[in-house]
Amino acid sequence: MISRRTFLAGAAPLLGVGAGSEPGQTPVRPGSDTSPTRSQFDPWIEVNAQNLRHNVAEVARLTKRSIIAVIKNNGYGLGVVNVARILEPLREVETMAVVKLDEAVRLRDAGIRKPILMMGPFTDDELEKEIGPRNIMPMVYRDHSAVFQRAASADRRFTVHVKIDTGMGRVGVPHEDAVDLIGSLRGPVRLAGVMTTLTEEPDFETQQLRRLDDIRHWCGRQNIDTRFHAASSYALFQNHDAFLDLVRPGMALFGIYSEPAFRRTRMMDLRPAVALRCRVALVKQLEPGESAGYNRAFIAREPTWIATLPVGHADGWPRAAAKGARVRIGAALYPVIASVSASHTIVAIGSQPSAAAGDVATLFDWTDGSRPEDVAEACGASVYDLAMHLSPLLPRRVV
Ligand SMILES: *Cc1c(COP(=O)(O)O)cnc(C)c1O
Repeated sequence: MISRRTFLAGAAPLLGVGAGSEPGQTPVRPGSDTSPTRSQFDPWIEVNAQNLRHNVAEVARLTKRSIIAVIKNNGYGLGVVNVARILEPLREVETMAVVKLDEAVRLRDAGIRKPILMMGPFTDDELEKEIGPRNIMPMVYRDHSAVFQRAASADRRFTVHVKIDTGMGRVGVPHEDAVDLIGSLRGPVRLAGVMTTLTEEPDFETQQLRRLDDIRHWCGRQNIDTRFHAASSYALFQNHDAFLDLVRPGMALFGIYSEPAFRRTRMMDLRPAVALRCRVALVKQLEPGESAGYNRAFIAREPTWIATLPVGHADGWPRAAAKGARVRIGAALYPVIASVSASHTIVAIGSQPSAAAGDVATLFDWTDGSRPEDVAEACGASVYDLAMHLSPLLPRRVV
């Protein structure tokens, strides 16, 4: 059977990933754009380290809490290791959280030393052989006492967070059963946190937090010293009662307002830490009656210059961008026309050839009018879809 790892190792020369450290060979960092086979025209992602640091400071200023930085799903598109390397030195970031075991392991393999919380499911075997030895903190919500007993006799330790289901109905120990699970954790297990996920339904969140508070009081009475966390980006804006001991945002750290209304509050100055760019492949003029795109989706009524961009929905640039998203070339914003195909997008640049092949085209970045939120709004889509669907194969450049 071919595991993901062997597949990737085998595919490395094709994908331009993996480090070539043989003498005389230029080392190629995973996802870097130094691959000799990658065209200058091909789309790339920029990671703005300064903006990322700025957003961390903003979240800390607003909440006055330490941060569990959620960097799951390939660091919200920026590359999970890229993000972790930028966040690790920041004192406001106490822990980094991912969902999948594979990402937690990749962070440790990349030399990340800070606490890592893994919020996804795992087997007892994985707990014992992969998670424990790497000092990854699993999010626990069921009984793993067999593993913990073996650990105790071998003098090994685990640090865990317990997940409570206070009404989200997803994962977690039902809140009525939480104290039994928490009470059963002893010996080699250190309880670093107790957490829940809020439903983003204002009235019900009050009840969720009350359920968590009952558990907190019980812990107090038992002299169980631990910390509680619940606040994702939504709560940063909407529910200060959820800040508790630590906050646990993702999207806000990447500088993206998860709801249009949050952008208008001015509670935090968030600056996008991600950009998607490519170079214009071709500029041409359409005569009246000439068309562009499958199904002749665009037909020129007057002489119209158009530019073809070598980026499409296979790269994570949404099909829905044709509903009204605009692309920046030079200082001007141009509308996406026709439809977005797998690897191509067409924009109308007007009555003059105001762009040229080779020009940099910005699909989104940190400039007002070109922010990820602007694109998502034009697409009628959630900004989460935009960030989390960026192809992991695109090169990431930290700027
Ligand atoms: C993704 C996630 C977060 C962060 O959510 P954002 O909306 O990106 O801030 C927090 N907690 C859990 C359990 C998550 O899965």
